[in-house]
Amino acid sequence: MNTLPFTPQTSDAYRAAIQWLARLQNNHLIDNDFVPSETGGSLAVLNPATQETLGLAAAGQTADVNRAVAAAKRAQPSWAGMAARERGKRVAEAGRLLAAQSEAIAVLLALETGKAIRTECRGELRVAADLLEFYGGLASELKGETLPFSPDTLSVTIREPLGVVAAILPWNVPLVLMMLKVAPALVAGNAVVIKAAEEAPFATLAAARILADMLPAGVVNVLMGDGPDCGAPLTAHPDVAKITFTGSQPVGEIVYAEGAKRIVPVSLELGGKSPMLVFPDADLERAVDGAIAGMRFTRQGQSCTAASRIYVHRSLIDAFVARLREKLDAMVIGDPLDEATDIGTVISATQKSIIDRYVALGEATPGAQAIRCGRMNVSAPLKLDLFMQAVLFVGLPENSPVMREEVFGPVTAITAWDDYEQVLAAANDSPFGLAASVWTRDLGRALDSTRRLNAGYVQVNQNLTIQPNLSYGGFGKSGLGKEASLEAMQEHFTRKKTIVFSGM
Ligand code: NAD
Repeated sequence: MNTLPFTPQTSDAYRAAIQWLARLQNNHLIDNDFVPSETGGSLAVLNPATQETLGLAAAGQTADVNRAVAAAKRAQPSWAGMAARERGKRVAEAGRLLAAQSEAIAVLLALETGKAIRTECRGELRVAADLLEFYGGLASELKGETLPFSPDTLSVTIREPLGVVAAILPWNVPLVLMMLKVAPALVAGNAVVIKAAEEAPFATLAAARILADMLPAGVVNVLMGDGPDCGAPLTAHPDVAKITFTGSQPVGEIVYAEGAKRIVPVSLELGGKSPMLVFPDADLERAVDGAIAGMRFTRQGQSCTAASRIYVHRSLIDAFVARLREKLDAMVIGDPLDEATDIGTVISATQKSIIDRYVALGEATPGAQAIRCGRMNVSAPLKLDLFMQAVLFVGLPENSPVMREEVFGPVTAITAWDDYEQVLAAANDSPFGLAASVWTRDLGRALDSTRRLNAGYVQVNQNLTIQPNLSYGGFGKSGLGKEASLEAMQEHFTRKKTIVFSGM
């Protein structure tokens, strides 16, 4: 393991992060114990900023999956038998404990993802802890109904947990995405087996350790490992009663098919190609800030809801592009642990080469202009490889792959529009339907366009990320089901039973 000569190396949080790393090496979390893989294999996790090995994660395989699912299956009935409010209190308390240790885990997250600590990692820890408290407080909302069936019966519905839930995570916002699944699943009385993302598994394992310490053994388990060897046997396990997956659309299809084989419910949060519509009366400054927030440039654009198609009315487009460029040029791309850094790295060389391919395609498109923005501040011991400037494309045709496919990097296309019906049709011409935003002060336009946009999360004059209490989920190839809300807990982590009392 490397100790890295980064700015806050002398800080308590950095030292605590390195101590966490030492504990997490080559381990899964099963039955509240850190245990190595049965096969002894491991996967190297790189620090994207230096390209050096940060640590070794256990490489889970079928035997580890079997062990984790068995632990969850053993633990689930008595967890479900606990009063709902008691479950909620424990989950909420875990949120407070996570918040108390958040700085060290934010450092760990920055080290493994390359995301800037100030603009990304601390906020991610805040939301992750908040989700535990939010769902903990919703425990008494696991209600059923009374049904007006006949006067001589009492007909009711009750909500029951599903059993063992498999939760599969990606690397881009692992802690928030983990809590969106794990918190409601637990509060509803399920036990969980998490499959961490192989690129960034350590912060997930650390957060799960804090959570598991508040729960009976086996209620939360974490497997480290890759998709084919660890994720696939987990989704195929006969004792898994529910699969909740966040990741790419192609893997989502595989996971959905696996669930279909056993007729288990599957929730999918997949990719996106989210449009942003800027009307002629928009507040330009607010819209430019909204584009920066919406494209998640501070996360190198690695967001499922990234505003990667920005349609700006022709009367504003020059001013919009100039101001966006100016603001991005003032943002510092550099050491993720430096407080002065706004933007860190992309996650991996594989991901970077995919992004570079899309950028090259866009640059080779006749009539398109590529504008690179952002102030690079990268020097040894950092390696330049995975740091990159934002790329703004202007003038790409609608059929360009950059306009149609998810790039998952700091690349957005800005397109001028004149006609409202045409721009709405262009915005909706996508197999995805995750998010959209509308920028106008005209209430009529806002009402009409928000109703007609084909996306699960539509915002007017803002571009927030996922927020506790706002039901979140995509249409079309962006996925199935909702997260972040009471509805998500009730609909996706319980089953409803109808009971009729008669003849008494
Ligand atoms: P990915 O699909 O490559 O991997 C996601 C997870 O699935 C990983 O843990 C991986 O190991 C696992 N996996 C891979 N193959 C598997 C298999 N056969 N069976 C079971 N599990 C398997 O995605 P990624 O590159 O980690 O993440 C980026 C993607 O996630 C993007 O497409 C992004 O849009 C999407 N995403 C969506 C949301 C959302 O809420 N809609 C949020 C964040 C990210």
